[in-house]
Amino acid sequence: MTVPFFYHPDFSGYDFGATHPFRGERFASFMTELEDRFPEVYSTLDIKKPKAASEQTLELAHDHAYVHRVKALEKRRGFLSLDTQLLPGSVDAARLITGASVDAAREALGRGIAVGFGGLHHAGPDYGEGFCIFNDVAVAARTLLDEGLERVLILDTDAHQGNGTMDIFYGERRVLFISLHQDPRTLYPGRGYVDEIGSGDGLGYTVNIPMPTLSTGPLYTRAMREIVMPLWDEFEPEIVIRNGGSDPLYTDVLTNLGLDLESLSELIGLIRAKAAESQVPLLDLFLSGYGPYVTEGWLAIVRGILGAEMDLEIPENRIMISDAKMEQMTVELERKLEKIENNLSPYWEVF
Ligand SMILES: [Zn+2]
Repeated sequence: MTVPFFYHPDFSGYDFGATHPFRGERFASFMTELEDRFPEVYSTLDIKKPKAASEQTLELAHDHAYVHRVKALEKRRGFLSLDTQLLPGSVDAARLITGASVDAAREALGRGIAVGFGGLHHAGPDYGEGFCIFNDVAVAARTLLDEGLERVLILDTDAHQGNGTMDIFYGERRVLFISLHQDPRTLYPGRGYVDEIGSGDGLGYTVNIPMPTLSTGPLYTRAMREIVMPLWDEFEPEIVIRNGGSDPLYTDVLTNLGLDLESLSELIGLIRAKAAESQVPLLDLFLSGYGPYVTEGWLAIVRGILGAEMDLEIPENRIMISDAKMEQMTVELERKLEKIENNLSPYWEVF
């Protein structure tokens, strides 16, 4: 069985300049590395070329005025936010990445699984920031809802909270948005507290799980088993869209979490296994990650999705966490999980 994988060489246009932590060469470097080091794994991928999202498609998740503002800004190399300058070609590349996630979502529905480069989750209805121009995850989810789906689970495991995706679906109950992210007190975008649980019709359908800084694999597994899995079972999604790249790794230069390659693969594998067990199509998207081990982290994600044997390595010692610190992190997480369950109990039977 082959797994559909969406890639286009023109993703390289998604680039924010020579001194920026997000460069467009990351996509091609990853493809080359995967093919050279793991030819057998590479041969199990059915590589597909996506089409760019049309303006109409972008407007499923973004305001008409925003889409036009982005175009005008690009012409004068303007800034969406301090960290997100629009260089020539970046908007077309953003449209291509968004189109890829839409194509991949449809493919996942048909084939049970699809993989691609995506997760521009900091772009909201009328704003872009945090290296995100258009929110491919939200556009893909909206496309499927438009085409008749009624329950989409978006599971965001990026180190940064998915504020854009959250804002787009905050009042909506057809999308259950769950985000596991580094404690917003210590990391951009500073959103995603346990009390942010949706509004109006969408109350209870936004779930934020702030992970303590330095969180390791066992803490993630715990949050998955106590919060994510029960909600997944009760919600009965028709598709799961997981997004998030390698930035929860302990080596990431912009974040402060504590996953290693094994635990990142395990986290992804846990989601893959759950999707298989509940016979739900899975779309897996990754694109984030900063510093020298982005490719290695992405390979760990692919290993988790495919359950493949792949020897991966980070030649950099991990931070030693003392027993006392581990205990403190566990207690902190337990308190958060309890609070989340209390907040959600009016809306969900499992809590
Ligand atoms: Zn991130």
